[in-house]
Amino acid sequence: MNREELSLAINQWMKDNGTEAIALASKLVQIESVNHPPTGHEAEYQLYFAEWMRAQNAEVDLYDLADVPGLREHTAYMSTRNYDNRPNVVGKFFGAGAGRSLMFSGHADTVYEGTEAWTHPPFSGTVDSGKLYGRGSYDMKGGMAAALMAVKCLQDLNIPIAGNVYVESVVDEEHGGANGTLAGRLRGPNPDMAIIPEPSNMRVYPAHLGGGIWKATFTGRSGIAFAGEELISALEATIEFANLLRAYNDYRHETLEIPSWWQDGRKAEINLLTLFSGDVSRELQEKLPQTGEINFWIEGYPGMTGEGIIADLWAFYEAQLPKYPLLQKCKPQIKPLIRYLSASEMKNDDNTAKFLELIANSGAKALGQSPEPPTGSPFACDGFMFNLYSDTPALVLGPSGGNAHGADEFLDIASYEALIRWYAEIIVDWCGVSGDGEV
Ligand SMILES: [Zn+2]
Repeated sequence: MNREELSLAINQWMKDNGTEAIALASKLVQIESVNHPPTGHEAEYQLYFAEWMRAQNAEVDLYDLADVPGLREHTAYMSTRNYDNRPNVVGKFFGAGAGRSLMFSGHADTVYEGTEAWTHPPFSGTVDSGKLYGRGSYDMKGGMAAALMAVKCLQDLNIPIAGNVYVESVVDEEHGGANGTLAGRLRGPNPDMAIIPEPSNMRVYPAHLGGGIWKATFTGRSGIAFAGEELISALEATIEFANLLRAYNDYRHETLEIPSWWQDGRKAEINLLTLFSGDVSRELQEKLPQTGEINFWIEGYPGMTGEGIIADLWAFYEAQLPKYPLLQKCKPQIKPLIRYLSASEMKNDDNTAKFLELIANSGAKALGQSPEPPTGSPFACDGFMFNLYSDTPALVLGPSGGNAHGADEFLDIASYEALIRWYAEIIVDWCGVSGDGEV
């Protein structure tokens, strides 16, 4: 079989095995694996993942995070989570010869189903009109299923892939987790290259944004001014701070230097998440609210830190204070709610350049046209655990879909099948085939 015939065989395999591929993605969605910080419900999913890989002749390492030396002492470890009965799992496939190694690494956990109404139940994995619905279908069980199916495709075709291919499923990525990914780096393996199948709509992201969630709380002076005393509405102060954050977002757009990966993409943003004030258990309020709080998300580029971002916000706050009369009387307390997820990018070297070129060529084979050029991701993820704390560079490449973290989250099935073919092509091109000349 020459290389062209192999691509045709991969295409034909995908046509013949679409039903099985969809069934796997659907099954992964049906095994609920919601993250409820500080705990999480990934165990059943991880055991299924391990079993599936064992059945495909993988060498499987299923381990507790507690058994990873140095994890709790690591500077990037976030100590507020509980890892009882939340194992990581990694499977090793192929490796018959001397080829470069590759890992697909993704998170097992999902966010909860939410309180919004779903058209199809969130853990049904229902397929309807080319979409596979369910919590985690898009973020990121679809991408992980694609990695597993790409491996199976090459196994079914009896292609003796030379380098090792690993598929790693980690716990606790949502809500600022990423300790599972760190555990994977400390325990290994740390192959030559990693792909994170987070939903990227088939875009290649060699760099990803960072981000963190903070809470600002306000204490006003409550009551009713019978004697004309001065009262301070914590609600009004909270709203002023919300407006200050919006002004700060505009200011960052004008002043932050945009790294090259993001020149054409979405820029780092600030989002307001929740705002509460007063006694939220009562509909009728008979006084100015005593307390207010606002949660917000701030994104950053590679090299920025959570402390640096908040220091910059405080500098902006001080400079703008004359415009915000209530904030002058009611200063917020700001604290982080999660760890700051660092932004990161692949090392800028020959290895990365080679891999990006290979990804583009493999994509052309799988998609029948050149993929979109690489760009910086519009979201934060755990890729920094690879790029900052291991020697393995990682990029993000995953399927299309929509409504991540919302109701009716879905995976686009056509993109899922194209991604399986793309991953299979990447494995062949990057890891090589034993007995060269055969393919
Ligand atoms: Zn994700």
